[in-house]
Parts: sequence; C-alpha cells; structure tokens
Amino acid sequence: MDDLALLIDLHRGGARQGPGSPEATRLALTLSGLAGRSGLRIADIGCGTGASTRVLARDLDAHVTAVDFCAEFLADLDAAAAREGLGGRITTLCAPMEPLPFAPGSLDAIWSEGAIYNMGFATGVAAWRPLLRPGGILAVSDLSWLGAQRPDALTRYWEAQYPEVATPSAKTAVLEAAGYRILGWFALPPDCWLGHFYDPLRARFADFLARHAGSAEAAALVAAEEAEIALYERHSAHLSYGFHIAARTED
Ligand code: SAM
Repeated sequence: MDDLALLIDLHRGGARQGPGSPEATRLALTLSGLAGRSGLRIADIGCGTGASTRVLARDLDAHVTAVDFCAEFLADLDAAAAREGLGGRITTLCAPMEPLPFAPGSLDAIWSEGAIYNMGFATGVAAWRPLLRPGGILAVSDLSWLGAQRPDALTRYWEAQYPEVATPSAKTAVLEAAGYRILGWFALPPDCWLGHFYDPLRARFADFLARHAGSAEAAALVAAEEAEIALYERHSAHLSYGFHIAARTED
C-alpha cells in the first residue's frame, strides 16, 4: 500500500477526519443565519466521511453536494446517509476541490471543515467566492494561532505542515480583502480535537498496525500521528481551528 492508501485506511474508520464536532457545526450554522431558509443549495468541500454534511442535511431545508477526492470516504458517507434517511438530501461528488464544478452564483453556502488548507486559505476563499450567490455564506474552519506568543517548537512544526497558519485577525483580513463580510468567528474547543478526533484516532492505531504488520510506512504514519497528538496536548492553549463564517459581498 502506498502512503495515501495507508492514510485513507487509517482515517476511514473515523466519524471525522479532522477536528470538529456536531456542536461546532451547529454553532457555525447559527452564526450563518441559514436556518429557516428553504431550498438551500450547499456544497461541503473536503467533506471526508461527512460529519458536517449530515448535520447540514439534517438541520436545514437543503440539498448538500459533498465533495471529496477520496472515493472510500464518500462511500462511507453514502452508507451513513442512507442509514439515517438522508440519502435524498445529499449527493456525493468524487472530485478535486480545485477547480470545483459548480456554476457561478449557484450556491447559497459553501461549507468546509478542516480541508481548505489543501488549497491554502487565501487561494481557496478567492476561488470559491464566484460560486456563491451575492450574500451567500462561506463557513470554513482552518488552523489558527490563538495569540501572538507561542513556543518555538509549535511554530516550527505547524509552519512546516501549513505555511498559512496565522492568527484569526490575519485570516479575517484575508476574507475581507477577498470580498466577504464577516458574520462571526470562534475557535474550536479542545474537545473538538481530543474527544471527537484524536482519541478515536488513537483507539484505531492497534488494529491499523495489526492490519499492516511489518509495514515500516504504517509504523511511521502512526508515530507521526502520535507526535502530533502529543504536541497538541502540550500546547492546546496556543492553537486551534478557527471557524470563520462570512457572506459574499455584492459586486
Ligand atoms: N471535513 C472533514 C472532517 O472535518 O471530518 C474532513 C477533513 S480532512 C482533514 C480533509 C479532507 O479533504 C479529506 O477528506 C481529504 O480526502 C480531502 N481532500 C484533501 N485534498 C483534497 C483535494 N485536493 N480535493 C478534494 N478533497 C481533498
């Protein structure tokens, strides 16, 4: 198995593939003002196995197109949606996030939890804006420093992983410059990292290593994940995902 296949195998068993929670998705929904509107057309970009997709489909009068380039994650999302009676409200689309196959102005909202880093925050919010109708909602979570001071080791690790990690005010400025009006922002609390993501991930390590016994790549992947979790546990006061909720301005 190559590294991508191993990564998919490790993360496929999870309810989610990055930090977040149903409560955080619902808080972002409240800030977005989408509740109570009818016939919404929403895209959930980098949806993974669909943790946020299914909350959106359940809580809103909406059709959600769930986009991810990983067919295995989408198969799990389709199965969960069918089990929960949400199949008619969700369409999965196996596609890269760049470029997205939506007509200009065709979306009431673009949702993306923990995935825009694959394009980069500034590139992503600029590329996705024309797909929203004027006033349409962008709700996106992305890695953020929680202040200006932090340990050097944390800065070095995350800047190597994601050069656009920045303070919330810097990301807000990027959104404003790209043509969005800010509706709200909050930081994901530690439970979104630990209880909803890292703890269930850690619980899958033993089975994963047993499935790939003798694979140096599988052992290296688990070691890298363990190191990232330990770093988060030491420094959770300094970094989180910021959830940015904004509206496309009129042109
Ligand atoms: N939103 C999900 C969640 O919060 O559980 C998944 C977040 S996971 C950190 C990032 C997701 O983006 C993965 O499901 C991955 O397959 C997807 N992804 C990464 N690069 C992509 C790309 N270029 N195009 C489409 N999807 C991509």
